[in-house]
Amino acid sequence: MTLSPSATINGSSSLATRQIHAGRGGSADSPTQATLPVPIYQSSAFEFPDHASAAAMFAQTQPGFTYSRTGNPTVAVLEARSADLEGGIAGLALGSGQSAVAAALLALVSTGPGKHLVVSEKIYGGTVDLLGDTLADLGVTVTYVDPTDASQWAAAVTDQTRGFFLESIGNPLSTLADLDAIAEVAHEAGVPVVVDNTLATPVLYRPIEHGADIVVHSATKYFGGHGTALAGVIVDAGRFDWEARPERWPQFTSPRERWGHQSLVDKCRGGSPFLHLCRAKFVHDLGLTLSPFNASQIIQGMETLDLRVRRHSDSAARIARFLDGHPAVRRVHHPVVESSVDHRIAERDYPSGTGAVFAFELNCDPERVPEFVDSLRLFKLVANIGDVRSLVAHPAAMTHCRLTEEQRLAAGITWETLRLSIGLEAAEDLIADLQSSLDELQRTSPASARTSDVESAQEARA
Ligand SMILES: *Cc1c(COP(=O)(O)O)cnc(C)c1O
Repeated sequence: MTLSPSATINGSSSLATRQIHAGRGGSADSPTQATLPVPIYQSSAFEFPDHASAAAMFAQTQPGFTYSRTGNPTVAVLEARSADLEGGIAGLALGSGQSAVAAALLALVSTGPGKHLVVSEKIYGGTVDLLGDTLADLGVTVTYVDPTDASQWAAAVTDQTRGFFLESIGNPLSTLADLDAIAEVAHEAGVPVVVDNTLATPVLYRPIEHGADIVVHSATKYFGGHGTALAGVIVDAGRFDWEARPERWPQFTSPRERWGHQSLVDKCRGGSPFLHLCRAKFVHDLGLTLSPFNASQIIQGMETLDLRVRRHSDSAARIARFLDGHPAVRRVHHPVVESSVDHRIAERDYPSGTGAVFAFELNCDPERVPEFVDSLRLFKLVANIGDVRSLVAHPAAMTHCRLTEEQRLAAGITWETLRLSIGLEAAEDLIADLQSSLDELQRTSPASARTSDVESAQEARA
């Protein structure tokens, strides 16, 4: 089945239209001609029309669905739609965001001697675990650098470097990256840039337009948007030239028996050798598969992506400003706060806002943090983000609890740091919830501590 998005999109360049129609063919796509929402093809495997087709599909000389571990018609709509919204040439969906990050990085470092990555120091904890443990066991080394300072990325490159990795908006501190400058450094060094665009989504930021070669998502978060299903996506911009330095990339440029004694670049001319490797090797061999049911949950969520993300992001900016003015708050990590280092990048690259996941530090006795968290009513204590419901997490006791205090502080996370994921409830109600808990904290703090804390809060903001 070939998907022809352009037919149903009728030339629209608007994300609001494309998020609903991209990745679907016309009615010819659907055997019953009546399935307007994307049907769930709840099938493990597909019948071949005849022996010759089966043989050709297994030899990978003819495209088609054989077995749902490596491809399924429902999942294929999510793949095409993600590629469309990100402006890439093709997409691959996987069982989780974690598997998307893992497969994308394995594709760069699993073959050949070069096993070094340059990585932003402000990234999701699960990716830190992957890099520091599983990939480290496989001989991968990492240099962590500041995502706002391209000169650090240039200084970290060695002849073993095979990729750059960063998050457009970092989780949990809402750190932004100077991707245009970093991509220039990467391309000068002859390596691709992989960007995790989970927190921004293509509604707020399209990394490929800023030089990214590969984009990954935890579709679990804003794509799905309702906290019901895990999924991940990889999109290839289709621009990185593996043949410019063929000796660096034997996985793409050397003939392999597995690919019919061809190299992947020869086999996939006009397509994506990168995603072919991820699908036909990593998803196939390691079973990183997305179920069609979960794909359908994510597809349904994506139909309202633009509406939801704008509302999430506007509410988050309002709430960040409110927190920034409260005496029981020491610091707000959100790019709207003018003293934030990310303010300049936000003004330049994020005209529609910087998303709804950010952190702030309470200005209180450390022992009172748990009581504050438990006193919130609308904010649910949950280790997730990107839900319609507002969520709070305490990184030092939850997602970052295995870091040493030194590592945690180096990542910018104190014991008093709380992460919020702003949902779609009325912003006034969310502010009222935070305000009553903050006022209570302020009212019951010892007067002496309070004065000095207010002073230090003012200092911190100055
Ligand atoms: C959640 C998350 C992931 C991991 O995705 P899962 O779907 O939970 O496996 C990766 N990157 C970022 C930025 C995330 O927030």
